[in-house]
Parts: sequence; C-alpha cells; structure tokens
Amino acid sequence: MNNSALLTRSLAAVWHPCTQMKHHAAPADALPMIPIARGQGVWLYDFDGRRYLDGISSWWVNLFGHCNPRINAALRAQLDELEHVILAGCTHQPVVELSERLSALTDGALGHCFYASDGASATEIALKMSFHFWRNHGRPEKQDFLCLSGSYHGETIGALAVTDVAIFKDAYAPLIRPAHLVPTPDARLAKDGEAAIDVARRAAVALERHLEQHHRHTAALIVEPLVQCASGMAMYDPEYLRLARRLCDRYDVHLICDEIAVGCGRTGTFFAHRQAAIRPDFLCLSKGISGGYLPLSIVMTTDEVYAAFYDDATSRGFLHSHSYTGNALACRAALATLDIFADDQIIEANRRLAEHLASSLQPFAAHPRVRHLRQRGMIAAFDVLSDDPDFSRRFYREALAREILLRPIGNTVYFMPPYVIGKDECEWLVAGAAAALDAALRQ
Ligand SMILES: *Cc1c(COP(=O)(O)O)cnc(C)c1O
Repeated sequence: MNNSALLTRSLAAVWHPCTQMKHHAAPADALPMIPIARGQGVWLYDFDGRRYLDGISSWWVNLFGHCNPRINAALRAQLDELEHVILAGCTHQPVVELSERLSALTDGALGHCFYASDGASATEIALKMSFHFWRNHGRPEKQDFLCLSGSYHGETIGALAVTDVAIFKDAYAPLIRPAHLVPTPDARLAKDGEAAIDVARRAAVALERHLEQHHRHTAALIVEPLVQCASGMAMYDPEYLRLARRLCDRYDVHLICDEIAVGCGRTGTFFAHRQAAIRPDFLCLSKGISGGYLPLSIVMTTDEVYAAFYDDATSRGFLHSHSYTGNALACRAALATLDIFADDQIIEANRRLAEHLASSLQPFAAHPRVRHLRQRGMIAAFDVLSDDPDFSRRFYREALAREILLRPIGNTVYFMPPYVIGKDECEWLVAGAAAALDAALRQ
C-alpha cells in the first residue's frame, strides 16, 4: 500500500464524517486527507514514513498513545477468552469489574452502569431514563429538557435536541423536538471588571428564572462540566455547577453531566464534576474511557433512579438496548485504561504536564491576533482574530505541513494531546502551532 493509492480508494468508497467531501477533491485548494499506516505513542505515520503529532488525541479519545503496549496486551488476552456476548440475560467479568471500578470512582454515589457504544447514545439514554423516571413516579408531564447555549451532546436526532451548534443542527431542525436553552456560563462573556465566577452566577440566575416558571414540565438539565468542548472549548467556573445542582434539587429536576469529552482525567480530576464537589443524577462517559481503542459508552446513575425502574411490571423497566452493549473487548480496554491511571498516578502526572503545557503556551498570550488563552487541565485553547471564513482549514493545512494534527473549531485553536506526550514533544507541538498560526494569518 502507498499514500496515493489509499487516498484515491478512500475518496471513492468512504464517506468521511463531519466533512464536505468536495473540499478534499477541489484541486486548487484541496484539503489534505492523511493516509495513516500505523500509530505509536503520540505519533501517526503515513505509508511514506511521514509522521504527525496527534495534538487532538484523534478526536479526544486517545489517552495513552496509539498502540499502547499495556492496552494491546490486555486486549490480546481478552481475545482468547471472550470477544463479545449478549448482555441481556448474560454477564461477563470485564463488564462487572468495570462497573464496580467506575462506581468506586464515584464513591458509590453512581452505583449502576448502563452500557452503549457511542457518546450520542449515552446522551439519549440519559434523556430517556430521566423522562421515564418521572413517568414511573407519576409525573409524566416532566418531559422537557434544558441545555446550555453552545452545548454539544452528540448528533443523533435525540441528542441534537440538546445540542446548540448551528452547523450540526440547522439542516435537521424540522426533525427535532428542541430542548430549552439557558445561558452558558462561558467565562469569555465576562464584562469589564467581572471574573469567571460572576458570569457563572449570572447564568445561574437565568437558570433559576427558567426553572421557577417551567420546573413542572422539566425533566433534566444536561451540561458538560467545566468545558463546553465542541462549540469551541468554552471554559467556565465550577460555581455554576454548584448553583445548578442546588436549583435542580430545589425544583425536582435531574442533573445530567455529560463527561464524554471532559471525563477520564481531561480537566485535572478523573471526573470533571468533582471540581465542583457535586453529584450528578446521571453521568455520561465515552471517548477516553476505552483509551481510544473501541467504541464504548456508559451512563452511570444513582440508587434512586435505579429503584424507580425496579418493579414486577416489564414496562416500568428500562427497555433500551444496543447490539454491542457491554462489549467484552471494549470493557477490557477500559479496565486496562483504568489500570494505567492507577499504576502511573496519571492525575498527578497530568498536573505537572498541564503546568508545562501552560508555560509553553504563554507566548501566545502576547500574540496580537490571539484572545482568551485558556486552559483546564489537559485542554488548552485560544481564539484567533481573523475575518477569514477559511481560517480553520488554512491553519489545519499549515499545521499538517509542520507534522502536526490540530483541527481548530472555527477561530478557536485548541490542544488536547494524549497524556503520554513528552515535555519536548509538547514544546515542539506549540512551536509548530505558532508557526502554523502565523502562516495561516499571512494568507
Ligand atoms: C463527542 C461527544 C458526544 C458524542 O459522542 P459520539 O461518540 O461522537 O456520538 C457527546 N457529548 C460530548 C460532550 C462529546 O464531546
């Protein structure tokens, strides 16, 4: 196999995700498609031996590098025992162990794990469970959902209802039963003299106003704790989560924490919501939980929610399933991932790595076209002042020319590297991004 042969075949036969395929075809200005032959640590290699640093963890899923020897070994061993079995009526060791260990990470507060295969399904499950909980409690009128402006919770039709990103949603608006939007606590909205916590308090007041009026019909509020990733790495003060939790308690509304992107150590704690010392009613996990190896998602919930479905009547149960629910290989990859967290004290190590990333990024703070340089743990971002509607693609191309895989969201350049990135690689990544930024802005 070689680069160009694979590219030709891919463009003919594969419909790539989140992509206007014609952008890859137009010769003058073509967007490069990178054929990947193999991966090793933070590096991806094409068939000509050219390499790229995976600065976005392959869409935020990879935590411990590509072809991690420990996860590979765990999967090889699992392959010889059990690849998959139906999870209705059967059970297996990896799914039991994973459920127990995740529950322990919440100190038992979320002791029940429901499995699916991707993030959007986890969102849908949490929404359905919340609605059904209230129905089982004789409150079927609680069927509305609340989400933050700029929210992203996946792209299936149900998940789009709680997603507020126009390019993903607008075309399908007629198919969607939209949720209600409440203001985001995005710290960039701070007015002169305000701090992030003031924006958080203001957003919580708006949430309170909404709930005062609409709580009778509201089943749940869904949030991404601390960072709204997909709409441009909007970071906010944990105070918002504390206030939202209090309001949800007061008004009998569930709090769903979507930690599909921000979970698994990304923001500095294993679960992001812990930084607000709160407990959600539902916690959605996916992306990094399998180390970036296999599709896996999990919705964790409380004894109270579980009990509302526990009954003689089948119809009061949660009759939801996916074919690959609780896949044994995916659960094994997740267990190997949790082992690495424990054995290598990753949360501690990431603290030092995040400090290093912060100091490497410091020069951007003084860049005349950069605004809102920000970071939460292993997510860093800044916004670029540019009127160029193609800034994102230009930057992408310039970064690739420097052996770096980074995909800005609009004018927001962000870094979300795997946790195994070395300090030298970190500096190299940031230096390459700085050069790519200046090259993209010159065009
Ligand atoms: C990626 C993501 C999803 C959707 O996950 P998929 O596996 O892509 O369906 C949902 N919520 C958040 C916060 C995400 O980042």
